Amino acid sequence: MGKVTGFMEYERLQEASEAPQERTKHYKEFMMHLSDADAKVQGARCMDCGIPFCNNGCPVNNIIPDWNDLVFNGHYLEALENLHSTNNFPEFTGRICPAPCESACTLGINDDPVGIKSIEHFIIDKGWENGWVVPQPPSIKTGKKIAIIGSGPAGMAAAQQLARVGHDVTVFEKNDRVGGLLRYGIPDFKMEKSHIDRRVEQMQAEGVKFRTGVFVGKDFPKEILSLSKETISPEQLNKEFDAVIVAGGAEWPRDLPVPGRELGGVHYAMEFLPQQNRVNAGDKLNDQLMATGKHVVVIGGGDTGSDCVGTSNRHGAASVTQFELLPQPPEVENKPLVWPYWPTKMRTSSSHEEGCERDWAVATKRLEGKNGKVEKLIAARVEWKDGKMVEVAGSEFELKADLVLLAMGFVSPVNSVLEAFGLDKEARGNAKATTDGDGCYQTSVPKVFAAGDMRRGQSLVVWAIREGRQCARAVDEFLMGSSVLPR
Ligand SMILES: Cc1cc2nc3c(=O)[nH]c(=O)nc-3n(C[C@H](O)[C@H](O)[C@H](O)COP(=O)(O)OP(=O)(O)OC[C@H]3O[C@@H](n4cnc5c(N)ncnc54)[C@H](O)[C@@H]3O)c2cc1C
Ligand code: SF4
Repeated sequence: MGKVTGFMEYERLQEASEAPQERTKHYKEFMMHLSDADAKVQGARCMDCGIPFCNNGCPVNNIIPDWNDLVFNGHYLEALENLHSTNNFPEFTGRICPAPCESACTLGINDDPVGIKSIEHFIIDKGWENGWVVPQPPSIKTGKKIAIIGSGPAGMAAAQQLARVGHDVTVFEKNDRVGGLLRYGIPDFKMEKSHIDRRVEQMQAEGVKFRTGVFVGKDFPKEILSLSKETISPEQLNKEFDAVIVAGGAEWPRDLPVPGRELGGVHYAMEFLPQQNRVNAGDKLNDQLMATGKHVVVIGGGDTGSDCVGTSNRHGAASVTQFELLPQPPEVENKPLVWPYWPTKMRTSSSHEEGCERDWAVATKRLEGKNGKVEKLIAARVEWKDGKMVEVAGSEFELKADLVLLAMGFVSPVNSVLEAFGLDKEARGNAKATTDGDGCYQTSVPKVFAAGDMRRGQSLVVWAIREGRQCARAVDEFLMGSSVLPR
């Protein structure tokens, strides 16, 4: 434990960030990592409370109290080694993880929790700045060949783990660049894509092969982003590889089946967001979907919706409104009731701070327009009675809308991909595979494993990394009879 009385002496510190009116002029990251002095103070707040609930709250089980102590004492390289022992990509989570660890922090019961995520961000940025993050190629090769479908955080984590124990790993990605939703979902202002490129270089030096622009399966729906130029059949992969991991994410978006849905100007969030990321990467797009000068309505109150808000403001939208179907959550959670679990409470993202009207308990009834283009949205207020949604009589209202972005979550993986592999699905349409015991992460098809959103449904980057790591161990055990990879 860094400083015995640290938690009584020091306040929680926020990372510095550029002001909203400045940062909305560009697409770059605007959060700065802590200084050495501030990271020391933040590390000193950790109470090393004996039972580290934070370590369980973190899906990759980062050994948080240990690296808090190491940072307090200035042992940054050891802190980095400790952090990397549980998390392949802390620069992703240190930027975009919602930090369930902090909801579980014991100090958070009666004070602000330790700024765990900001310390993680500090450690990994320090590591890259000092050249401490280097390839770790295997000392022996096993001769086993593994195909991974999908280069999101689950596929990347599995690939890195498996390459480091000597397997020949090839990652197939239908898009033209590696990274999954980190690349073509999450905006650059939350996480710049150079972080992915650096990891890809590291992984290539460790022996991982990336084949981008290659779609595995058949009959891909046009609604989903695919920049593939080549198709490979699952049969071909099964013939060439000793094991296959499907880590293709859960890309099927939830639709809004209301009159007027077919009007121009009504789009899925994932038609809008990836385009801006591609332009930021230097691609030239004909007819980029822009919010400039438009009245934008974002339907859906989650992360994806918030990213649409931030991107629309950067485009220079005339107004941005975000609707959520559920009622407004409380400003502060009932701590004794919810700790150490993730609480329902009002969350204001950095994109909301940049400007947005937010409204809760609102259901969209129809969209209206002229000449095939949306012009307004008609909505009504709703109440929840006995778990059922009821419209409030006389509450209908309308709103100007030139661009309506549907950000109501994702239903499941793309069916045709699972069907091409002949995988059994669970009730929600995800690939069926357990996460514990014998045969964990194995699907119903021999030697085919599943991980990340494709197995668990749309989730978080940190869960995808956990599943990629654990699936890698399951595959290694399946191929070699035992594994030295962590559970
Ligand atoms: C807009 C948005 C914002 C988000 N923000 C956050 C956030 O701030 N923090 C957070 O923790 N989580 C966030 N998430 C969720 C997070 O991005 C996902 O949970 C995570 O990326 C899942 O990782 P994955 O590797 O399982 O799948 P994905 O990242 O979806 O990657 C799957 C990859 O597989 C490829 N693929 C699919 N099928 C095939 C095929 N047949 N052949 C070849 N390639 C294929 C896809 O092109 C994709 O690149 C966000 C999600 C969205 C949509
Ligand atoms: S990965 Fe997420 S949950 Fe885990 S320590 Fe980092 S911020 Fe917390």
